[in-house]
Amino acid sequence: AKQNGRDNAKLFQSYMAKEVTSGFQKEQDIKDALDNDQFFLVFQPQIDTAYGRIFGFEALIRWLHPKMGTISPDDFIPQAEESNLICRIDEWVLEKTVKTLDTWRSLEFDIQPVAVNISGRHFAAEGFLESIQTLLERYDVPGSWLKIEITEGVFIHNMDYCVEVMSGLKQLGVEISVDDFGTGYSSLHYLKMLPLDVLKIDKSFVSEIGDNVEGRKICEAIVQLAQNLELEVIAEGVENSHQCEVLNSLGCHLHQGYYHHKPLIEEAALEMLRTQSLQ
Ligand code: C2E
Ligand code: CA
Ligand code: CA
Ligand code: CA
Repeated sequence: AKQNGRDNAKLFQSYMAKEVTSGFQKEQDIKDALDNDQFFLVFQPQIDTAYGRIFGFEALIRWLHPKMGTISPDDFIPQAEESNLICRIDEWVLEKTVKTLDTWRSLEFDIQPVAVNISGRHFAAEGFLESIQTLLERYDVPGSWLKIEITEGVFIHNMDYCVEVMSGLKQLGVEISVDDFGTGYSSLHYLKMLPLDVLKIDKSFVSEIGDNVEGRKICEAIVQLAQNLELEVIAEGVENSHQCEVLNSLGCHLHQGYYHHKPLIEEAALEMLRTQSLQ
C-alpha cells in the first residue's frame, strides 16, 4: 500500500506539474473535489501512556481523486493556502468533524474530543469565531469536544486580534493547541500572552530522540516550558518504543504517532473507542 501511495504521489506530481503553468486549473480541481465530495477524514488516536487510553483524535484530510487515488494533504494544502480556497477546505473539515461528533454522541460509550487543523489564513479571516459558534449550535455539540490546532506563524500577525479570537474559542470550551511547536517563530512573549492549552512537540524533534543528544534536549526543554506555563504537552510522530520511553521519562505522557496508532478511517476510530469502553 505504501508503494502504491508513492506511485500515486509521483503520478500526481507529474499531473500537477502540467497544470502548474496555470495555477487556476489546479485550483479548479480542488474546487471540483469540494463540489463532488472527494475529500474524507481519517482520525489519528492520541494516547495517554500513563493510563494506556485514548484521550482524543486528530482529524486529517485525504483526497480520494478519481484518477490518482488517495492524495496526501501535503500535496494540495500548500496550494490551497495560497488562496481563500483553504478556508473552504477548513470549513468542510470543521463541519464534517462536528457532524461526526454528533453521530458519535448517540453511542453507548464515551467519545473523545477531535482536533482540527486550521490554517493561519482561515484563523485570521473575519467571522471565523462566529462560524465555529454557529456550527456548534447548529449540531448542539459541546465546544469541549472540538480542539483546534494552529501553527506559531499565526501569532506574529496581529496579537490583539489573536487574543480576541482565542478568548472567544475558550468561552465556547474549544481547546487550542500550538502545532509543530519549536519550528516557527518562537517567542516566549506570545506564549505568555495567549490563552493556549497545548503545545505539540513537532515530530522532527521526536524523530531525533534516538539519533543525538540535541533531539532529546529540545524535547526536554519544550516539556519543561509547557510545565512552567501550565500547558499540556503532546508529542507527535512517536514511531518506536525508545522514543515512547524517553518521552515518558521526561514527563510527557500524551503521545500521537505510528508507534501507537496510524490515522484510522472513521469506522476503525469508533471501534477503538468501543473496545476502550469495555476495558
Ligand atoms: P500535521 O498537522 O503536523 O499532522 C501530522 C502529520 O504527521 C499527519 O500527516 C500524520 O499522518 C503524520 N504522522 C502521524 N504520526 C506519525 C508518525 O509516527 N511518523 C510520521 N512520520 N508521521 C506521522 P498528514 O495527514 O499527511 O498531514 C500532513 C499535514 O497536512 C498536517 O501536518 C497538516 O499541516 C496538514 N493537514 C492535514 N489535514 C489537514 C486539514 O484538515 N486542514 C488543514 N488546514 N491542514 C491539514
Ligand atoms: Ca496538526
Ligand atoms: Ca504537527
Ligand atoms: Ca505540519
